[in-house]
Amino acid sequence: MKIRLLRRVTQLSTIAMFIAIPMLNKRGIDALMGSLYSLAIGPIWITDPLSGLQVILTTLSADSTLIVSIAIPLVFTLVFGRVFCGWMCPQNALSELFDFLSRKIGVERTFRLPPTPMPRYAVLAVMLALTVILGFPVANLISAPGIISVQMSGYFMEGAVGVELVLIGVIVIFEFFVIRRGWCNYICPVGGFLGIFRIGKTMSVAYRKETDQCIKCGECVKACQLSLNPMGGTMDVYDEQFLCTLVHYPIGKAALQ
Ligand code: SF4
Repeated sequence: MKIRLLRRVTQLSTIAMFIAIPMLNKRGIDALMGSLYSLAIGPIWITDPLSGLQVILTTLSADSTLIVSIAIPLVFTLVFGRVFCGWMCPQNALSELFDFLSRKIGVERTFRLPPTPMPRYAVLAVMLALTVILGFPVANLISAPGIISVQMSGYFMEGAVGVELVLIGVIVIFEFFVIRRGWCNYICPVGGFLGIFRIGKTMSVAYRKETDQCIKCGECVKACQLSLNPMGGTMDVYDEQFLCTLVHYPIGKAALQ
């Protein structure tokens, strides 16, 4: 319960940050600047690793500031897994809200597919190839967290939003009617790229077989937004996790390793 509350506070704080940034910047306070493509906290820059890679691919250069700004979230991901997705990404907060609403009103999605990273990796590969061919960061055009953060800043800075927000509407409709959490599970190149950075010691939520009291009721699979099945206990399932909702499982045997 405490983790759930902490996660909600973190999600709301991230959204609040992109309301606060333009307001502070307008008043000449630049301690926080930028977006989820690249964020400055005082003198420290943190760059979305996929955005950073695209800069390197298009400019064929990388200075130390860029390298360090990419390394910070990558090391964080290697240690904590895809915590960015589960705890900070504003698209995830939005998708969770609409998933909650869809379950309340009993929406039956068109497709029920098992989660798999392969389509995401394919999208990622195509985006990076196009970035090299076209010479601009193509994957940023479909970076949901980047778009939301930039549009929020734009709205609170200038009172206007751009056409990029259409993508967010499409994602919400797609996940609401077609495939539950289909964007994050199958398409998003940002989450797909972060998912690559994982080692055996990366933090994950694990089902403890040695204290097995599982009655195989399947409530955990229904509770998981990504439709992951911890009862299988295989690493390819855990590779997909956002480290968020397993703590709700009624069996209470999931734990942070
Ligand atoms: S997969 Fe993409 S949209 Fe989904 S939570 Fe992760 S970064 Fe956000």
